[in-house]
Amino acid sequence: MTFVKLYDVIIVGSGVAGLSTALHLNKDLNVLLLCKREMTLCNSSLAQGGMVAVYDTEHDSCEEHIKDTMIAGRYENNLEAVTILSKESKMVADELLDLGVDFDRTSDGKIDLTLEGGHSKHRILHYKDSTGKEIVDKLIIAVKRRKNVTVMEYAQMCNLKKVPGGFSLDILQHEQHHYVSTPFCVLATGGIGRIYQYTTNSAIATGDGIAMAYQLGAKIQHLSYIQFHPTAFYNAQQRECFLISEAVRGNGAYLRNCHMERFMHKYDERLELAPRDVVSQAIMKEQEATGSKHFYLDISHKEPEFIKTRFPMIYHNLLQSEYDLTREPVPIYPCQHYLMGGIQVNLNSESTIPGLFAVGECSHTGVHGRNRLASNSLLEGIVFGRRSALHINQLSKQTQEKIQPYPFQPDVYTADIPKGTRTEIRSIMQKAHFVLPNRKLAEEGFIRINDIKFMLEHGQFKVTPDYIEAKSLATCAYIILKEIM
Ligand SMILES: Cc1cc2nc3c(=O)[nH]c(=O)nc-3n(C[C@H](O)[C@H](O)[C@H](O)COP(=O)(O)OP(=O)(O)OC[C@H]3O[C@@H](n4cnc5c(N)ncnc54)[C@H](O)[C@@H]3O)c2cc1C
Repeated sequence: MTFVKLYDVIIVGSGVAGLSTALHLNKDLNVLLLCKREMTLCNSSLAQGGMVAVYDTEHDSCEEHIKDTMIAGRYENNLEAVTILSKESKMVADELLDLGVDFDRTSDGKIDLTLEGGHSKHRILHYKDSTGKEIVDKLIIAVKRRKNVTVMEYAQMCNLKKVPGGFSLDILQHEQHHYVSTPFCVLATGGIGRIYQYTTNSAIATGDGIAMAYQLGAKIQHLSYIQFHPTAFYNAQQRECFLISEAVRGNGAYLRNCHMERFMHKYDERLELAPRDVVSQAIMKEQEATGSKHFYLDISHKEPEFIKTRFPMIYHNLLQSEYDLTREPVPIYPCQHYLMGGIQVNLNSESTIPGLFAVGECSHTGVHGRNRLASNSLLEGIVFGRRSALHINQLSKQTQEKIQPYPFQPDVYTADIPKGTRTEIRSIMQKAHFVLPNRKLAEEGFIRINDIKFMLEHGQFKVTPDYIEAKSLATCAYIILKEIM
């Protein structure tokens, strides 16, 4: 008989979405918060540009923010969700300020609001060019003060089961299995970037929550809506591509082709400030026109001191690769960046399976439509994380069915998955579903991905982080390719 611990709520993920959920749950709820590596290793910590808030209501309005979000999303957005996102933005920004988040200020002490591609107004709150880290650090401090929240690091959810009264989870931590159950499970597991050969995403972004929700029968929506960021630093040797923030273009940087000519005027009147999908597609078309993959981002016409003060992290990071942002154009190329689709949820972040919630990048609230507007995703994670918590606070007061935990069995297999499985999945996706998808390669890829998924699901493999993630990658790749065929 395995020992099963019960919690009132289990949150899987410690990015902004999971942390925001934890902070808004009632203090009398016994909460477990899991993350599969250290708490700070997540996409949230990598966010550079900032977080949207309709903060300066004299010069900006929710109506304008909603309009910009809908234009970027090609009007495929859920208007109700976008309206909530915008209307709750000032409130959550004030909450972050109360927690000590040190957003940059102007010389007269006001919050410094910056501009990014696709926005008609200056409305991005930022902390230099490391906004995500600043927010995550302050949220972690606040969550760690909560006596009702137990944090488990290096604790990977490797199995999620629906049981009478709730959910049972098998957690792998330092090769030990822990079995836990809860009436409310919140998936905050982030994106799927690691399904690609080149991505800006951190190592945790393997789509575990999405794959496990899919296996449970939850509805998954628009998983093929993937954003490719136009300006990742080009370095074919590195899989995790260093992002050069949208805000660099927002502050006047130009895009140049292999002849060092600006080219965006050929593709969009908003030039370098067009939304990401437009800029990434323009780069691919310009590649076809010039026959060259060489593209550059150039802000060297701006004052060096301004560049160093406004983008210290980007400046220093590029210097390590021997590029001086203040003096020369820097090579860039599009790469996978963000997932607009995910686990379908309602406005309280509840999935199609009652009691199973999804927040942040793994969820599909519909706020981003076809293409996310810059800096709307930290906001989405925080707003909808809060909303999931408020709803769970209500639901937890109602009488609940007694949980019957799942009888997980100890791991008996010893074989590792075949070497190169993950590499093969990444290579298929990079070719089949990049900025301009290739239908023929997608069809061929789907057949192979289907085989890999079957092999992982039915083979007798030892449950390791590698195995769990390979299964998640194969499942997400399968859903994506199936959707576009
Ligand atoms: C380089 C970069 C720059 C960005 N810049 C911006 C920006 O300026 N503004 C903006 O709004 N957005 C930006 N984004 C997007 C934004 O950061 C993310 O969409 C958002 O932070 C996702 O938050 P999250 O909480 O959903 O997921 P994450 O922050 O990625 O957190 C996921 C968590 O889930 C955990 N997890 C995953 N699987 C498991 C498992 N099986 N078991 C246990 N735990 C698990 C991980 O350990 C992690 O704690 C950027 C993204 C990147 C990659």
